[in-house]
Amino acid sequence: MIKIFELLKDIQVTNDFIKDVINNNGYNSIILDYYKRLEEEEHIDLTNKINSIDDCNSIWTLDKYELQKIKDFKKTNLCKDKFCNNCKKVKQASRLSQFVPQLKKLEEEFDLFHVTLTVPNVEGHDYNKLIKTIKTMFKSYRKLNHYLMDIESIKDISFKKYFYVGSIRSLEVTYKNDSYHPHLHCIFAMKKGLKLSKRFKNTYSYSKKNGTRSFSSFEILIQKIWRLTNEGKKVTKKSIDDLEIGYSCSVDKIEDEHYFEVFKYMTKSNSDDEEDFMSYDNFKVLYYSLKSVRQIQGYGILYNLKEKENYEEEVDYLYNKIIDELKEKELPIEVMEAPEDLLKQNDYLIISRKKVFSYLRQL
Ligand SMILES: [Zn+2]
Repeated sequence: MIKIFELLKDIQVTNDFIKDVINNNGYNSIILDYYKRLEEEEHIDLTNKINSIDDCNSIWTLDKYELQKIKDFKKTNLCKDKFCNNCKKVKQASRLSQFVPQLKKLEEEFDLFHVTLTVPNVEGHDYNKLIKTIKTMFKSYRKLNHYLMDIESIKDISFKKYFYVGSIRSLEVTYKNDSYHPHLHCIFAMKKGLKLSKRFKNTYSYSKKNGTRSFSSFEILIQKIWRLTNEGKKVTKKSIDDLEIGYSCSVDKIEDEHYFEVFKYMTKSNSDDEEDFMSYDNFKVLYYSLKSVRQIQGYGILYNLKEKENYEEEVDYLYNKIIDELKEKELPIEVMEAPEDLLKQNDYLIISRKKVFSYLRQL
């Protein structure tokens, strides 16, 4: 019995988690106001969107075991809006639970690297400018992938020693006031045991955020090719050599925290320094520039790493055992409750079968 109790802890939906959901619903009321303002200003119909955000996480459906004081979370309404703080987390957690096991398996054969590719900030609340920048980044990424895969070649430069076999790229746009910072978080699969010795320093070696760091020759090469392609310039050995400095990019052996970066949602509800909540101008620019953007794309052997829309199918063997045990004592009744009410009635332990919860707890 002790063992079952231990397991219950692993699948528990904590009060802190429920509090977060309620807080995020509070933030959503600001987002709702933004959508209403946008609807009026732009003469567009956003009724469905507004209603579904309003409904997001308003009621949870649970199985209640009265004698054992346990409530088993079954489902909730999710709006899936890109600005909803609850759904952003669910999305990230669901991606982590889908992709991390697959990537960890790949690590048996290849080394994985977390690669960050940046471009200069886009200044001003001008969504057309940001749309254009993002398009160029995606195009440049395809090009970079071609070079690394040796589908296109640069005379006198070979990438063969890295044994690059594919990657995932994921877009994020952060902002501060009217300055937007689009960048890509990527995972490269390269040769097992590849050592990138970091021996070079340049302007990007010194930053407040990362302190002092050195770069490998591979990073310097990526920085320059990334700049040349984004500026629409021809990539040759000469143009690379002639370029004094590329764009800020880094390549590091992957660590668990990087997965959270790669699979998080496209944008945060706070400015880069976490100080200010997204302004209406930020919202409008991000609404239009991220509207039909595919955030995550795989290349090479990771091309087929596609996101499943329905991630809720995963069944945990241990979880079933727990439920069987609970049901031996009593059959549950289905109840529907608002998260606020669940918090008030705190003599129940709330559990959930959804694997995403185990990732959500880490976020
Ligand atoms: Zn939502």
